[in-house]
Amino acid sequence: MGQTMEQLREEMEQCRKCDLWQSRNHLIFGEGNHHAPIFIIGEAPGRDEDRVGRPFIGPSGILLDKIFAACGFNRENHLFISNIVRCRPPGNRPPTPQEAAACLPWLNRQLELVDSRIMILLGATALKYMAGPDYRITRVRGNWIRQGNRLMMPVYHPSALLRNPALKRDTWEDFKKVVYKYRELVAPDHYTPHIP
Ligand code: SF4
Repeated sequence: MGQTMEQLREEMEQCRKCDLWQSRNHLIFGEGNHHAPIFIIGEAPGRDEDRVGRPFIGPSGILLDKIFAACGFNRENHLFISNIVRCRPPGNRPPTPQEAAACLPWLNRQLELVDSRIMILLGATALKYMAGPDYRITRVRGNWIRQGNRLMMPVYHPSALLRNPALKRDTWEDFKKVVYKYRELVAPDHYTPHIP
């Protein structure tokens, strides 16, 4: 029998593959349904996440949960939320290429176990490491990228929406595409009053 998510979590908790382990309070494994149809990938834990041990619980996470709620999605049933790196980079800087390379095997194992049909890439860092360095979030957001049998939707990171609320309009259009795809691939009767 293959590895379970709980076995993966136990193994991951010991990780010292890059220097970020030295300053972490918590390693953020990820959160949600272990068989979620939608897999969310962010950049890295921030201060609130490192303090509490859960992904996306600060202002960005609150905004993200509001967007998900408007789509009729929640962490318990529809989503699994993870990051490119699992330990907080000091000062909330982006992870270095070396840190991302060290941590990506953990993410790939989660992706195999959860086996979601749809992935949402939150922001430039997730896009760079999941799709490739030539992709630019401003150019490709809102457009599906196929990878094997998975479909990836790049969207602005919620922290960018907090800095620049004008981006919310485009982001809502991008999330509507995710809901349409979810209805097409997973649950045709998925209902949310905000998206006919
Ligand atoms: S960021 Fe990833 S690779 Fe680095 S120590 Fe944490 S879990 Fe390990």
